[in-house]
Amino acid sequence: MRRLIRALASLALAATLVAPGASASAGAPGSTPSAPAARSASSPTASPASALPRATSSASVITATTTSAFKGSWSSYHTYAEMVADIKAVAAAHPDLVSLRSIGTSYRGRTLWLAKVSQNVTADTGRPEVLFEGGTHALEHMGVEMTIRMLHWLVNGYGSDAQVTSVVNTRTVWILFNLNPDGSEYDISNGVFHSWRKNRQPNATSTGTDLNRNWNYHWGCCGLVSAHPASVYYRGAAPYSAPEVRALKAFVASRVVNGRQMIRTAIDFHESGRFVLWPYDYTKTNVPADMTAQDHSAIAAIAKKMAALNGYKAMQSSDMYVDSGSLSDWLYGTYRIFAYTIEMGVNVYRTNSVMLAETARNRTAALALAAAAGCPYALLGTAVANSRCGAFDDDFEIARGWAVNPDGTDTAPASGRWARGKPAASKIGSVVLQPATVPSGRDALVTGIAAGTSAGANDLDGTTTVRSVPIALSAGAGQHLTFRWLFAHAADSTAEDHLRAIVEAQDGTQTIIWEKLGSAALVGGTWGSASVSLDAWAGQTIRIRFEATDGGSASVVEAGIDDVRVTRPS
Ligand SMILES: [Zn+2]
Repeated sequence: MRRLIRALASLALAATLVAPGASASAGAPGSTPSAPAARSASSPTASPASALPRATSSASVITATTTSAFKGSWSSYHTYAEMVADIKAVAAAHPDLVSLRSIGTSYRGRTLWLAKVSQNVTADTGRPEVLFEGGTHALEHMGVEMTIRMLHWLVNGYGSDAQVTSVVNTRTVWILFNLNPDGSEYDISNGVFHSWRKNRQPNATSTGTDLNRNWNYHWGCCGLVSAHPASVYYRGAAPYSAPEVRALKAFVASRVVNGRQMIRTAIDFHESGRFVLWPYDYTKTNVPADMTAQDHSAIAAIAKKMAALNGYKAMQSSDMYVDSGSLSDWLYGTYRIFAYTIEMGVNVYRTNSVMLAETARNRTAALALAAAAGCPYALLGTAVANSRCGAFDDDFEIARGWAVNPDGTDTAPASGRWARGKPAASKIGSVVLQPATVPSGRDALVTGIAAGTSAGANDLDGTTTVRSVPIALSAGAGQHLTFRWLFAHAADSTAEDHLRAIVEAQDGTQTIIWEKLGSAALVGGTWGSASVSLDAWAGQTIRIRFEATDGGSASVVEAGIDDVRVTRPS
């Protein structure tokens, strides 16, 4: 019951925090420890474990050197030191499968440990990658236990459990065990639970930043987030102001290889509520402009599959409540990683047996998410998987390494060259040359992206070229380059105007594989579809180029490209 009262107090606090000028003192040193994450959907029927003695005000001022321990009914949990010893022992026993590295340090200097788990772990295999992370919120200790147990499941099941063996052989699994070790150590210091959520970085008036509000994706914009340093939902002085967040940000950024984010799926383990949550947090809109409809379908399908495996409820994160600056929003919004928040259990501080059962019921869901990294669109059917999960896939919603004017030979003015973004509409009379809508999502690759004051403003006037990152084609036959295209021109166009797709082989040889030419007719901008065989380059590493030319002296040409893909071999 006390837990219920505290949960209610938390909701009241939450309402206070979003009010301008509210004085939020929860979690401040010397104050009564505040209620934990309001994600908890505490049920009155779920009898909470009786906690260790509650912190007194004198005990809530703690230094990093204070002894901490899990004892008695919580003895199966790991302190930071126990966690480090455990994962080091596993890595030492399985050097072929596990390597450990630091991604940086916490505010108080604790190493943020990351494990790489994969067969032939020292090699750079190019396998699809999955990220598991725990410990964001200090008091949600079960998330850390989940990551530790996953490491054990992967090494112990390798060679005997078919699902585990497949994941280890075909994926690179990253496990970040505890993003907030300063917070979790503080939370258990002096033999009491402190209901501590944030990190332990001093701020303007108090201590700590909520690490799940500090990411630079709609940072501080909406919902359950606070600009008050004393708030348990404090967003930080600036995006990435927490060193723990900066460390994980740098690691994720390092996984972009040849323009492509290698991490395809991720889970951030929290407590509590028994939910599998998909992005976004920041809006209640199901398919906002920064998510494609197909991504939404696929990301929700995976969540529902995981929920069927762990018995949780799957929903969009904002259906729980709206917040902003979260890790999962940042992972999807920035990199299109299918990132989930799993809220484990029914409340925090559950005792040993409950923790062991709750982590166990998430085992197959986590393994399914690792498997899904191979083709996150697979649940939408074979046709979608063949289209989206070949050697290349770019919907142009994020930057994936295309280079404009790669040879320095473009003659088009800067305002007319290829650019990625949302095009502005342009017309000649009632004919739309450059539509403002694109085949998928918000953005495409277009020439003369701004509308200007007439159709001729920001038009091409010359040649512009754009080149992809290297694309390693499979050796199999039947791969096609597919893309959506738009080529519009005024009535004075000639065959000097064109839009071309070109394959650049590894030796630099360029081959025109598709072309549209201008003509003496007013042609409006409608999006077409193209598919060209790449069999001549099977097994090779190529680049794709798109070239648009406005060769006439006074004509108007607009070109667009979207959804460039290399299909799977047939
Ligand atoms: Zn949490």
